[in-house]
Amino acid sequence: MTGGSSKLADMTAVDEATVLSLCDQLLAELDPKTVPAHEFLGRQFDLGLAWVHFPVGNGGLGGSPQLQKAINERLIPEGAPLPYGRNPIGYGMGAPTVVTHGSDAQKARYLRPLFTGEEIWCQLFSEPGAGSDVASLGTRAVLDGEEWVVNGQKVWTTLAHLARFGMLIARTDPDVPKHKGMTYFVIDMHAPGVEVRPLFQITGEAEFNEVYMTDVRIPDAERLGAVGEGWGVSLTTLMNERVAIGGQIPSRGGGFIGEAVKVWRKLGHTDPAKRDQLMDLWVRSEVLRLTNIRASQLRSVGTPGPEGSIGKVISAELNKQVSEFTVGLLGAEGMLKADGYPMDRPHHAMLWSNPAQAFLRARANSIEGGTTEIAKNILGERVLGLPGDVRTDKTPPWKDVPRS
Ligand SMILES: Cc1cc2nc3c(=O)[nH]c(=O)nc-3n(C[C@H](O)[C@H](O)[C@H](O)COP(=O)(O)OP(=O)(O)OC[C@H]3O[C@@H](n4cnc5c(N)ncnc54)[C@H](O)[C@@H]3O)c2cc1C
Repeated sequence: MTGGSSKLADMTAVDEATVLSLCDQLLAELDPKTVPAHEFLGRQFDLGLAWVHFPVGNGGLGGSPQLQKAINERLIPEGAPLPYGRNPIGYGMGAPTVVTHGSDAQKARYLRPLFTGEEIWCQLFSEPGAGSDVASLGTRAVLDGEEWVVNGQKVWTTLAHLARFGMLIARTDPDVPKHKGMTYFVIDMHAPGVEVRPLFQITGEAEFNEVYMTDVRIPDAERLGAVGEGWGVSLTTLMNERVAIGGQIPSRGGGFIGEAVKVWRKLGHTDPAKRDQLMDLWVRSEVLRLTNIRASQLRSVGTPGPEGSIGKVISAELNKQVSEFTVGLLGAEGMLKADGYPMDRPHHAMLWSNPAQAFLRARANSIEGGTTEIAKNILGERVLGLPGDVRTDKTPPWKDVPRS
């Protein structure tokens, strides 16, 4: 890992002209159309153009997060690879968690190969008995000398079959209330005792998995944050997850609605009632896009706030409505799934190759990353200041709370 450009050494304040000149330097050094993606992304990281708001040496320049848009707009049209698509969980959630809570050694070890996509990450939070209420989880980690011994089961773990590392939250003290007795670890998914089994979705693919951990040993140095502080660390992951899922900013008329317009044009539809529907969906997609742009501009460096749930709630519903409309435009053809039901384990997550696939996959949008009901609770309580949900299990020790 190199520090890269001499321009970085004297960098005190970063402005748009500086990052654009670094982009030009990167493009002059490496042609994104011909060099392997990981090589281009590695140099992008070294120049501080990976996450521009991260510190120097960690893939950033300590600049404003808004500068990332300028970087992406400069690099992507030239054919630069998209790091999000290669490693969505690592890029959107793992990196902000490591940079916020990790030791210097962890930041140096994990961030670069995560950004280049050479090491895929997954998130081991949900359990069969702990999804919306993830703080009630039961996977145990017990300290044995300098290592933690982990036993338990996780579920719905996206990309675990490809992952080299996982963000794991486990119970380290059952004698205190549920939010206080958890600790956060980076787990090596290739360690002895980690077993990954596929779970197939209605798309016919197994993006996600069950993960069983039996006497898995994790060095204490791979803890993220203090013992018992895992809930606070998890919130960094969860808040970033909501923004990663619901805060995407496609180009104007792009994304899901772009696909609908393409189908409309291709089939030469003229029905005015359907056109009204399409325009309604287009306008709502544009309002969401502008809202997400505004939210990203207001967002300062650090963990996103609870208002990140707005984009999550709205996009989940809109994606379903737009994909349903598109399938409707296709008529009988819309009932066919071009690639059939391959029953395979894809090398990507959240990519929607055709309208029928998008229609089926969008069903998960109001569940993944926290359900719409939970997101509404967060918005009601933490943004609007409404009275809280009834919670009787917040104060007793975790071990005394009845569980199913
Ligand atoms: C495609 C996909 C990918 C996923 N990837 C991952 C991953 O990589 N890692 C990971 O850890 N998890 C992952 N998940 C799991 C996801 O986070 C959980 O499914 C989600 O949090 C809901 O938990 P649950 O499925 O246990 O449902 P439950 O928590 O059992 O909820 C069931 C229903 O009850 C409602 N409900 C629950 N509590 C309340 C309440 N207090 N108020 C109102 N309504 C309530 C819910 O909204 C829901 O409708 C993924 C899920 C999907 C669909």
